Amino acid sequence: MKVHLRTLGCRLNQSEIDTMARHFRQQGHEIVESPAEADWMVVNTCAVTHDASRSSRRLVRDMHRANGAADIHVTGCYAQISAAEAAALPGVVSVVDNLDKDRLVERVTGQPLEPYDLEPLVRANKLGAYGRTRAFVKVQDGCDNACTFCVTTIARGAGRSRAAHEIVHEVNALHLLGYQEVVLTGVHLGSYGHDLGDHDGLYHLIEMLLAETDVPRLRVSSLEPWDLSPDFFALWQNPRLCRHLHLPLQSGCDATLKRMLRRTTQAQFGALVAAARAAIPGVSITSDMIVGFPGETDAEFAISESFAREMDFSGMHVFRYSRRPGTAAARMRAQVSEDDKKLRSARLIALAEQGERAFAESFIGQTCDVLWEQVAGATGDGFINVGYTDHYIRVRCVHPRALTDLITPARLEGFDGQHLRATPVIP
Ligand code: SF4
Repeated sequence: MKVHLRTLGCRLNQSEIDTMARHFRQQGHEIVESPAEADWMVVNTCAVTHDASRSSRRLVRDMHRANGAADIHVTGCYAQISAAEAAALPGVVSVVDNLDKDRLVERVTGQPLEPYDLEPLVRANKLGAYGRTRAFVKVQDGCDNACTFCVTTIARGAGRSRAAHEIVHEVNALHLLGYQEVVLTGVHLGSYGHDLGDHDGLYHLIEMLLAETDVPRLRVSSLEPWDLSPDFFALWQNPRLCRHLHLPLQSGCDATLKRMLRRTTQAQFGALVAAARAAIPGVSITSDMIVGFPGETDAEFAISESFAREMDFSGMHVFRYSRRPGTAAARMRAQVSEDDKKLRSARLIALAEQGERAFAESFIGQTCDVLWEQVAGATGDGFINVGYTDHYIRVRCVHPRALTDLITPARLEGFDGQHLRATPVIP
């Protein structure tokens, strides 16, 4: 059968849809780019904000409009918290619970699956499952925290970790499939192993992956700051671990952090960032920030903005607080007006852009390894290749060859606002 897959939201959703693609292929089905060709469609939805829920509904309607004959299977956080509404959308034949998501492919196809046996794909040389050079591997799901704005704990349930040997096996298989970079993802990645009785579980998992796999690049996605001890950064002595840490702060004001029930403070977060920078020269530190959390006054926002400036992030995702049903923050008084949220968000976005530019420009004149991920077009002089340094700076070069899937040194020459321009150094 032909299957079309779509996802919205976080890297975890992306990793799940990539895994579904591999599993459908493993069972002999074909992944198609166009919804019009599909017999089945899977939509992995998001509910992190009000807008994300609306986009999820719109995507399902668009899929049905594109191909009214296909069966649509819906899963993800929007489908979890609004299951009846999702089931009533046009074309939807099933809503798959988040807790059952890992078995979605079996449910859709009716065929049992050997979950991590990718050997048939390797043998058949079906490389690049879902057309990426970077694979996202879910190592953990769910969260035991209770941040008051977060709908994820409602939608994803309690924290649970996959067995380390299974993850090692999967990373080795992905490397065999041709992937050059693996990104470890989870809802609350830093808690990996806690449910298995290992409070340094993520440290041990990364150590094991560096020792028992040869994938050239290993990257960790978002890590809650309170999960990390300064010792954690010793892992970066191995250059295969990408020098990028995404540490969601959410607010730089202690009073706001307290209402958010975030388990960190300005002082703790600042000390952690200093320890990371001391241990990992050149590390990129990015963050998530929420503006307009209930009760955030102009003075609280000013503290938050000033602390974000002090942290000198090389990028920030800025979210306007959005009231999510069932969360404690939705019931808080002193909700902030949409106009104030927009103003604050514009200020932080400007700061984020400044930080991104300054970080990228600090590499001009240096030579860094770049994993070339795609060809974005061509000029009279060659292909426009786009890739990333291990710090996750986007790089672009024009070269007579398509360099996709290669890691090459590249001399970084200038920043155009989106990419560092580079010349690959290829013998
Ligand atoms: S740590 Fe907080 S924000 Fe992150 S998933 Fe858990 S409850 Fe949500």
